[in-house]
Amino acid sequence: DVSSVQMTATRDGENYVLNGTKIFITNGDVCDVVLLFANVPELGERGMTAFLVEADMPGYSKGKKYDKLGMRAATNADQVLEDCRVPSANRLGDEGRGMRIFLELIDHGRIGIAAQANGITGAILERAVDYAKSRKQFGAPLASYQAIGWRLADMYTELEAARLLTYQAAWLADNGQSFRTQAAMAKLYATELAMRTSTLGIQVFGGYGYMMDSPMQRYFRDAKLTEIYEGTSEVQRMVISASLFR
Ligand SMILES: Cc1cc2nc3c(=O)[nH]c(=O)nc-3n(C[C@H](O)[C@H](O)[C@H](O)COP(=O)(O)OP(=O)(O)OC[C@H]3O[C@@H](n4cnc5c(N)ncnc54)[C@H](O)[C@@H]3O)c2cc1C
Repeated sequence: DVSSVQMTATRDGENYVLNGTKIFITNGDVCDVVLLFANVPELGERGMTAFLVEADMPGYSKGKKYDKLGMRAATNADQVLEDCRVPSANRLGDEGRGMRIFLELIDHGRIGIAAQANGITGAILERAVDYAKSRKQFGAPLASYQAIGWRLADMYTELEAARLLTYQAAWLADNGQSFRTQAAMAKLYATELAMRTSTLGIQVFGGYGYMMDSPMQRYFRDAKLTEIYEGTSEVQRMVISASLFR
């Protein structure tokens, strides 16, 4: 619930004084600049404002670093602001424009996560097909069994559908048209597909799929995050259903 942001930005001459903690920030332990949203109390409910905070600003520090289940190539850490003085020049957009900036960013971000999920599904499909061709059981390759082949056919079909949803959202965004609902649909469908196919990928690999030196366990761990960040699947469904009842 973005509207419940707790971080505050109190005006003080040519500066703002920021206080609060942002949790779970990707690459938060290595960033030099961070985009943060804080409420300017004088503006009441419409006070959300965007700031670019630089790591060497007094009062800024990096907080807890997290150990994650997947997506382990990226780090994750809290951002702590304690009476951090941020010059007005570092405000992004006007005061009170933060929510609009956030929504625009996140709508674009959702297309990116949909594409990331499609990449995971594509990798799973490619590896599952290769494995099904080479692994022989009961005297024949796994690929010769319909139980395997049809499930991979479904995976391929759904991947194409997810890609088209993603391309549609990206096309609308590129062409200056409204794309919020399509971005939510693309993210919802592509990420839940990646999660479903990651369990199927492990199944196709059998016991090997469960081992840490198999690629499938990694896709399984990575896919889960795509259903959570840039808005959970539940949040995407809220966005889509809101568009139906507008
Ligand atoms: C690895 C990782 C990296 C991240 N990177 C960033 C980052 O770089 N920047 C950033 O700002 N954030 C980042 N996040 C935060 C991420 O966007 C949030 O964790 C995510 O949006 C979910 O919010 P939450 O954790 O507060 O869950 P909650 O909002 O507490 O939700 C918990 C559960 O309840 C469900 N739920 C909540 N409200 C409703 C409702 N009204 N109806 C139905 N179900 C509901 C949710 O869908 C979820 O299943 C990251 C998180 C992770 C795990």
